[in-house]
Amino acid sequence: MNAMMTQPNPVKPSTLIPPYGDELVNLLVPPEALDELKAYASHLPSLQLSERSICDLELLAIGGFSPLRQFMPRDDHQRVLEEMRLSSGHLFPIPVTLPVDPEPTIHLDRDIALRNAKNDLLAVMTIEAIYEWDLKQVAQMVFGTIDVRHPLADMPRWGKLNLSGRLQVLQLPHHADFQELRCTPAQTRARLAASGCENVVAFQTRNPLHRVHEELITRAIQRVDGMLLLHPVVGLTKPGDVDHYTRVRTYKALVQGSAIADRTLLALLPLAMRLAGPREALWHALIRRNYGANYLIVGRDHASPGVDSQGKPFYGPYDAQALVERHSAELGVGVIPFEELVYLPDEDRYEERSRVPSQVRTASISGTQVRQEYLNKGRRLPAWFTRPEVAEILAEAYPPRHRQGVCLWFTGLSGAGKSTTADLLTAFLLEHGRQATVLDGDVVRTHLSKGLGFSKEDRDTNIRRIGFVAAEIVRHGGVAICAAVSPYLATRQEVRDMVGPDHFIEVFVDTPLEVCEQRDAKGMYAKARRGEITGFTGIDDPYEPPSTPEITLDTVAQTPEANAQRILAYLRQRGFVRAEAGSQLFAEGTNGAEGAL
Ligand code: ADP
Ligand code: ADP
Repeated sequence: MNAMMTQPNPVKPSTLIPPYGDELVNLLVPPEALDELKAYASHLPSLQLSERSICDLELLAIGGFSPLRQFMPRDDHQRVLEEMRLSSGHLFPIPVTLPVDPEPTIHLDRDIALRNAKNDLLAVMTIEAIYEWDLKQVAQMVFGTIDVRHPLADMPRWGKLNLSGRLQVLQLPHHADFQELRCTPAQTRARLAASGCENVVAFQTRNPLHRVHEELITRAIQRVDGMLLLHPVVGLTKPGDVDHYTRVRTYKALVQGSAIADRTLLALLPLAMRLAGPREALWHALIRRNYGANYLIVGRDHASPGVDSQGKPFYGPYDAQALVERHSAELGVGVIPFEELVYLPDEDRYEERSRVPSQVRTASISGTQVRQEYLNKGRRLPAWFTRPEVAEILAEAYPPRHRQGVCLWFTGLSGAGKSTTADLLTAFLLEHGRQATVLDGDVVRTHLSKGLGFSKEDRDTNIRRIGFVAAEIVRHGGVAICAAVSPYLATRQEVRDMVGPDHFIEVFVDTPLEVCEQRDAKGMYAKARRGEITGFTGIDDPYEPPSTPEITLDTVAQTPEANAQRILAYLRQRGFVRAEAGSQLFAEGTNGAEGAL
């Protein structure tokens, strides 16, 4: 026997790139200190964190944001906005702050217990800084826009003050799903190091992966001659994205059956995305370095928030690539550009578009088409585009459209005709085999929102409650018909995001104030004019009309029946109601606009 073979393998020192700032931050208190700190925390005032802040806390705690080790104090925050750097000089393109509303328990030099929505204790924070921040300035500087269609540009609910200070983390947020894939940076590094590869290329994604992505990651692995860190975001992504349970099932199916299985590490990233395009791409690179990657794939429209309220993209398609490339040497993370690949049906293979002669037939399906033309319509993706096992998982999650959920959101002045039209529509839907739940603003106020008044804050709370229930109904495949004045644009945008934009139909009941006042079915206008009630929409409180509603109704020239029929026809056109046998099929719209109706 060869003596060499009996020697134990020497432990190879890790050749992975070190974390940014050279050390992985770890904020978890040692096990022996846990009991004492827990007992201490039970006497502290508590702060319940939003889902977003919990994601941020988790990545701070495990070193995903190294060298950052706390929610940013003012000097870090300001420098991040202006120069994309921490006060230490390290690159950091995205603010990570803990916004809260002022409360008597929030004091400088006090400890506070940070908890999740279920009140589980996550961390103890020593409040070392409290400062105001300017929402609009942050949106403008980080996202480059304050347009309400940016999923994060409107941040009125983020709290007016930012808190910062030392964090002692007692436990990480608990995730019951896909536990074997939830690896911290240290665990990810250990697994990557075991492969012995020096180069690791990370792939960021918030979408299901298709054959084109498989081709692309295969090429990236060959290019760097290393490992792939397939690193999907499972924290918060863009409203309307395929849910992460479905996505992760598709990633597993894809890796299991592929030629790159032994060169791929699939791990989940609990990041709350900001959809900040270029700045976000640079952040993705920094985070992936902490997980052990020295390359990041950056393609077209990386971390894109889609289009603004004028229909224009927020960022140029390659702005993200350019920004990461500009800082690549300093950050130590190289960019592997995603070149656009197209399918060649005659050769059954993928090729870079730039290398395909103009006379050769090509095929491609864009991400938007995948969602709007296939998934949302319950249509099966073709095998040349998606592996059948992946298509199968997606088909389970996306039944035919007439069995998917949808929210009809009626907005307009009091007395405009929202309830009248909504009630008729409900009856018509039942006639056509769809169940519907009506959430009427007035009715909701008698139970779900009992006790709420008509201040801006209370009105917003009422709308959010309706939005929350509607989102649940839609998620379970039902029809939610909401009829509430919902006077504020930003709040309606928020509920659109809660429900998911592809399943949200805004119906603007555009009845002039004079007409509503003349109808005065509930006698409210007369009271408002007499000053007996104040803050009445249209009289002494504003109504902000929608800029791009899916449907606008005229209740002066049209009867309630005609309007309800028109909405039904629209739902048929979008596929949410099955076309009747023998009736004319409407052309399928692509962008949710009302088209030729
Ligand atoms: P993200 O929103 O973070 O960019 P995606 O899952 O949409 O997540 O994209 C993952 C990566 O693949 C990104 O780098 C993105 O730029 C790239 N990508 C996705 N689709 C395309 C495409 N059709 N052409 C070029 N790059 C793409
Ligand atoms: P909202 O829910 O918007 O406050 P309602 O539907 O409760 O409004 O009240 C609208 C009033 O206007 C009802 O009395 C209804 O009969 C009357 N109305 C008159 N014409 C129309 C129309 N074309 N569409 C809807 N309502 C109408």
